[in-house]
Amino acid sequence: MSPTIGVLALQGDVREHARALESCGAGAVPVRRARELAGVDALVLPGGESTTIDKLLRAFDLFDPVQDRLRAGMPAYGSCAGMILLADRLLGAAEGQQTLGGLDITVRRNAFGRQVDSFESDLVIDGIDGSDTQPVHAVFIRAPWVEEVGPAATVLARVVAGPAAGRIVAVRQGSLLATSFHPEVTGDMRVHRLFVKIVRDSL
Ligand code: GLN
Repeated sequence: MSPTIGVLALQGDVREHARALESCGAGAVPVRRARELAGVDALVLPGGESTTIDKLLRAFDLFDPVQDRLRAGMPAYGSCAGMILLADRLLGAAEGQQTLGGLDITVRRNAFGRQVDSFESDLVIDGIDGSDTQPVHAVFIRAPWVEEVGPAATVLARVVAGPAAGRIVAVRQGSLLATSFHPEVTGDMRVHRLFVKIVRDSL
């Protein structure tokens, strides 16, 4: 049976994530309401602006329902702002900004600095077979990085070269996955395929 994966559709590149999930054999539905959330097996939290998504989650009465599902073990994948939303601890938060939490990580917003609004880098990602010989091309846009990983979370990828070398940009904790970058914009489906596999294994 193919899982139904929701894409939080308050802001960000919702359609690209839905297309990527569908090409990996999952059903993809936009989630804007609690009743839509109730019908999905898992959730993707897309990139965008985490402060805005935080506010919209409250305005749409979705903050508590999403947090409840995460606490109950719903698999989730957060990309960029989505990674921020899934972090238990946040550095550089805007005034009043909260996260849903779930991942035992400390994330720093806009970590790569103002001068470097966006950059691209090739990554080897643990759990993605073949990424050592065929690296995943990662696009970072005003991205966060993971400053610190607690004992419950596992590092999947670090930046290899340049001034940010060694910085953690992909993590997993059980059926929660997060990346600092945007795999939905490159046409490389391997991160989405990994998430769909995590979702299938959880059913
Ligand atoms: N800088 C954004 C934030 O803090 C994240 C950027 C993105 O998702 N591309 O939410």
